[in-house]
Amino acid sequence: MNSIEFPLLDRTTQNSVISTTLNDLSNWSRLSSLWSLLYGTSCCFIEFASLIGSRFDFDRYGLVQRSSPRQADLILTVGTVTMKMAPSVVRLFEQMPEPKYVIAMDACTITEGMFSTDSYSTIRGVDKVIPVDVYLAGCPPKPEAVIDAITKLCKKISREIYEDRIRSQQGDRCFTTNHK
Ligand code: SF4
Repeated sequence: MNSIEFPLLDRTTQNSVISTTLNDLSNWSRLSSLWSLLYGTSCCFIEFASLIGSRFDFDRYGLVQRSSPRQADLILTVGTVTMKMAPSVVRLFEQMPEPKYVIAMDACTITEGMFSTDSYSTIRGVDKVIPVDVYLAGCPPKPEAVIDAITKLCKKISREIYEDRIRSQQGDRCFTTNHK
């Protein structure tokens, strides 16, 4: 796993006094304790579930799995998103408190994957219905790749301006009836 740069820690003085901005402190606390929604629709979830176990130990990155979207600020869209499932994905996303983040975890989520030959029942990318922060290709992506995607998301969070993030999310348009 690549190391994450913390702007906060660059400003340590000789006497170990740390100066920072409220924005950096807020970013640092959020990227250190992302709570992700326990969500998965198909085979990729088996790979994702291995991250929760002791071998990969997801929790050591501050990532705690939550069953309620109201307690989560990260959703990994794991697996195929069907037309029927899309409104539920949007609803889960809308129930999450802001600022919230999305990692699209696999080929099926990003491009329909093996259903991409003009399937009538799947949507052509979860980003048609919710905004995605990090795309992670693979069928399925390895647990190490998921951890790398989390690292990329943390780097993104470490650079963002809190107000801008909130403002952009309030302007996001989610679900439309035409997903193709
Ligand atoms: Fe299954 Fe592959 Fe699709 Fe993941 S990307 S849900 S492993 S078919």
